[in-house]
Amino acid sequence: MVRKLIAGNWKMNGSVSFASELVGGLLSKIEQQDVSADFVVCPPAALLGSVLSLAKGTKLSVGGQDCHANVSGAHTGDTSAELLKDIGCGYVLTGHSERRTDHGETDSDVKAKSTAALKAGLTPIICIGETEGERVSGNTLKVIEQQVTNSLPDDADSSAIVLAYEPVWAIGTGKTATPDDVAEVHNFIRELLVSRFGREAANKINILYGGSVKPSNAAELLAVSNVDGALVGGASLKVEDFWAIGVR
Ligand code: PEP
Repeated sequence: MVRKLIAGNWKMNGSVSFASELVGGLLSKIEQQDVSADFVVCPPAALLGSVLSLAKGTKLSVGGQDCHANVSGAHTGDTSAELLKDIGCGYVLTGHSERRTDHGETDSDVKAKSTAALKAGLTPIICIGETEGERVSGNTLKVIEQQVTNSLPDDADSSAIVLAYEPVWAIGTGKTATPDDVAEVHNFIRELLVSRFGREAANKINILYGGSVKPSNAAELLAVSNVDGALVGGASLKVEDFWAIGVR
């Protein structure tokens, strides 16, 4: 069993004062207790500097929500993985469904970004998940297999990647997958990783579940086999909720 990882995706929310309140509240809890999970927050790019200075030297890790596949160049508005690493980030989300939908990111874009993240020394949290239509038509496992095969870097170091299974229909909707559905997909992902990296290495990769995780359903979801943490959107914006998801 790996140590659980609880990652908060703030999406396009927050402000300098919000960040200071939320991170301050979180740190006062994390620093006081011997917690059994690792916590990461992924604020919007413009708040990374503020959050990093608050989290510096603490047990709280910080991640970007996206990175560019190139190291530098004419890519207005983008941020390279190298720069995220340089300012102190440890993680970056790649392939979040909102990036795939809003920005047309494909598996091959996600693979390129995840490769850049690994090269820069960041841990990519590689997001995958089926749409409602894909689930209803019985294609969930086929879609997951394609995404795992095509989104992971070719020479991925298994000790430096995290996967997040997020059914698209469960993100921000209040709907959650049942524990049986989650178990089926997480077990399937684990076996895909085993065939790629071997059992020992694959068992050490955190596979997070994401999609309307909140304090009231976290215990049940985090107890499912092969669920090694959570990627949390809405509930990561409240200290008490985010904390309650990770600490029990
Ligand atoms: C997410 O943003 O990755 C997410 C899972 O959002 P929510 O928890 O709000 O569904």
